[in-house]
Amino acid sequence: MAFLLMWGLNGLAQSAAGDGPYSQLIIRGVMLINGNGAPPQGPIDIVVENNLIKKIQVVGYPGVSIDDANRPKLKAGGKELDCTGMYLLPGFIDMHGHIGGKAQGADPDYVFRLWMAHGITTVREPSGRGADFTLDLKQKSARNEIVAPRIMAYIGFGEGSDTPITTPDMAREWVHNNAKKGADGIKFFGAEPEIMDAALRENKKLGLRSACHHAQLNVARWNVLHSARAGLTSMEHWYGLPEALFEDRTVQDYPLDYNYNNEQHRFEEAGRLWKQAAAPYSDHWNAVMDELLALDFTLDPTFNIYEASRDLQRARRVEWHEEYTLPSLWEFYQPSKISHGSYWHDWGTEQEVAWKENYKLWMTFVNEYKNRGGRVTTGSDSGFIFQLYGFAYIRELELLREAGFHPLEIIRSATLNGAEALGMDKTIGSVTVGKLADFVVVEENPLKNLKVLYGTGAIRLTEDNQVVRVGGVKYTIKDGIIYDAKALLKEVKAMVDAEKNKQDYKILQPGIKH
Ligand SMILES: [Zn+2]
Repeated sequence: MAFLLMWGLNGLAQSAAGDGPYSQLIIRGVMLINGNGAPPQGPIDIVVENNLIKKIQVVGYPGVSIDDANRPKLKAGGKELDCTGMYLLPGFIDMHGHIGGKAQGADPDYVFRLWMAHGITTVREPSGRGADFTLDLKQKSARNEIVAPRIMAYIGFGEGSDTPITTPDMAREWVHNNAKKGADGIKFFGAEPEIMDAALRENKKLGLRSACHHAQLNVARWNVLHSARAGLTSMEHWYGLPEALFEDRTVQDYPLDYNYNNEQHRFEEAGRLWKQAAAPYSDHWNAVMDELLALDFTLDPTFNIYEASRDLQRARRVEWHEEYTLPSLWEFYQPSKISHGSYWHDWGTEQEVAWKENYKLWMTFVNEYKNRGGRVTTGSDSGFIFQLYGFAYIRELELLREAGFHPLEIIRSATLNGAEALGMDKTIGSVTVGKLADFVVVEENPLKNLKVLYGTGAIRLTEDNQVVRVGGVKYTIKDGIIYDAKALLKEVKAMVDAEKNKQDYKILQPGIKH
């Protein structure tokens, strides 16, 4: 039973996006890149019934024409999707996707389309506009009433509480209420040690998961290792990890005129933090890593969100801003003493070089963690610091490559590892019989060049010297519903154009007035 999804767009006519699910869907002739580390294999036909994978059948050999007699048969009322020669992957999981803040002026239908256009079928939201807002969208997405990835709601610790949480009992009570509301987990930003300890242990007891951005205000007494021991299941970004690795100090070497409320101070000094930690492969570095591994702890590095720190010009000039970045988002990114993350008040060579070194030390830890069997996931944290929803997720894949991951390890990080970290690996994360029909289909081989996954595609020079674009996700399939990824992007562009027309707005670089 095919149905059309009707969802109002800003100033646009109602639009149909997404076909299915079908009583039977056969996706024909793909090269399968499964999320489990297996090498590519094809041609394969995949049979889906409603939203479940029923059969994964090898139907031939490379360079040999396929014998139709040996292929799965289409039943009456079924749908065939010819994907001959295309690459099919499990739906991507973005482990750090804020649905869009008010300050950014990014509404959910804009954000969701950008995610879906980049193959993201599941998002963990690590706090957003409030529990009710997120849980409502989660339910609508679960019923496929809206064009949106599956949403896992990790509510900000303390959110909705009338008074500050000051005792372990209050912490436990909040944790209970959060679970009762239907949240999937908690996002922490740090708190007093006894509060963190009580909340994490109680949450774990209830069987819920957790994420923490260890903000600098609390890391001196409670770093990543403390959290992991108390039951935190994943750390976000990197803060709190160098602190766990300190061996010749107990607090970061802050300049004496530092002010945490000064965004340049925060980000500039953060760029000097990894080199204050134990050296890679030293005894202390190994001991911290091994303890985190023993605790089955997940790293969700979100490398991309700091990229402007090491190359501001790259981040602000990426080609997709012109067509896909909303004016309100562009304004939010501009240097400001107020907006979070808009820290380049005076950002130059010295800061960028320090951050490049910071990245090397950070990436060394993350890559070795993966090599020793640790779980590393893919998260974007878009909507800040020139990182655009969807596009930034693909950039994150590229940065995992830079960190030393094999492309197959990257795909596993983006799929099965995310599913495991969410406790959902029985239903999503790989193309397996019995799992949900969440797929990414792309015409090019993403292992050879991850850039083919960007909505703007990758650049290719043809045999006859013509410059063309190839790739961009072709279909994003969620719960057996087929979305035309390029049509979703067109809708995003129309939203952006409408906003620009309304405001007579043009994207200009910082400090340029015409
Ligand atoms: Zn975040």
